[in-house]
Amino acid sequence: MIPYGRQDIQQADIDAVLEVLQSDFLTQGPVVPRFERAVADKVGARYALAVNSATSALHIACLALGLGKGDWLWTSPITFVASANCGLYCGAKVDFVDIDSRTYNLCPEALAIKLEQAERAGQLPKIVVAVHLCGQPCDMQAIHALSKRYGFRIIEDASHAIGGKYKGEYIGGGRYSDITVFSFHPVKIITTAEGGMALTNDDLLANRMDLLRSHGVTRDPALMTHEADGPWYYQQIELGYNYRMTELQAALGLSQLERLDDYVAHRNTLAERYDAALAELPLTTPWQHSDSYSGRHLYVIRLKLEQIDATHRQVFERLREQDIGVNLHYIPVHTQPYYQQLGCRSADCPEAERYYAEAISLPLYPTMSNELQAAIIAILKDIL
Ligand SMILES: *Cc1c(COP(=O)(O)O)cnc(C)c1O
Repeated sequence: MIPYGRQDIQQADIDAVLEVLQSDFLTQGPVVPRFERAVADKVGARYALAVNSATSALHIACLALGLGKGDWLWTSPITFVASANCGLYCGAKVDFVDIDSRTYNLCPEALAIKLEQAERAGQLPKIVVAVHLCGQPCDMQAIHALSKRYGFRIIEDASHAIGGKYKGEYIGGGRYSDITVFSFHPVKIITTAEGGMALTNDDLLANRMDLLRSHGVTRDPALMTHEADGPWYYQQIELGYNYRMTELQAALGLSQLERLDDYVAHRNTLAERYDAALAELPLTTPWQHSDSYSGRHLYVIRLKLEQIDATHRQVFERLREQDIGVNLHYIPVHTQPYYQQLGCRSADCPEAERYYAEAISLPLYPTMSNELQAAIIAILKDIL
């Protein structure tokens, strides 16, 4: 089965990991800080904290921003469940803002209306998680302006979007948000096997996330409640976790980072080739805002079902029967049984549900050959 996404591992990656494997440190050594500095410098952020997954990064980001019981976290329903679950981990309540009909990202107009209602009800969110779906950045300027008016904090879930740009600047620089999160899962743009990162320009947030990813324990005398008992001394000053990234993962990430711009450029070339080849078919290709240079993690088409003699599910199944590992990103999170049982109502996100009824992710990854892409296009044409 041709996957919808997959990693690219080259000899330089293998050499980098082997070198660490034979070194003194498998974890808590010099390579993680080097990887953090390299990503921070690349995207223009002051601080980067590497962790063992983007899910962990989202969790410590929420905690660092003070999310807790009684608070609300809002996000888009068209995302992986982790963008919402991080709120529940903190004991907060989660709600969803409908998507924009063209970008499929959280819709700033829907957000504005919901904020107005929430203000009247005294239930404004503490955090909004803006998910850059497929790698295309959200309308961050609009979301940021609303955050100033209503006093919420912003986390960018840029799990799909490292290497992409918003208004000419790399995503992750934090101009319009408090914290940005990247994922390095193998289907994402660069990989560390499992892994993630939280970036910020705020030293207090960086310090808190640093503590939270490693048991809430510090060796920094400046953070301690009293003078050290001796050279062995450390203090636990928070309830933290073990969310650390290993040296092996960081070495792989550093090596992959060298090819980031090439990966994103190649993904954009493949996406444009799909756009051109699929233009005449009864489907909608991914619309791109002029402010955005997408990381192109996913290539999502939407079927024009009224013009097709098959159901969404039949088209999907026929592609799978031909070994094309299409996927559907994502099932609206508010329709998941776990969220239904928490009381999420479907009527609030009609655009997200329309999207779900029509969307299919086609394979897109940098090692995909032109021949393979042509074959996928031919099969899709044939089915439609
Ligand atoms: C992949 C993904 C995550 C979770 O990433 P992990 O590194 O697997 O924890 C979170 N949000 C979105 C939008 C993702 O696609």
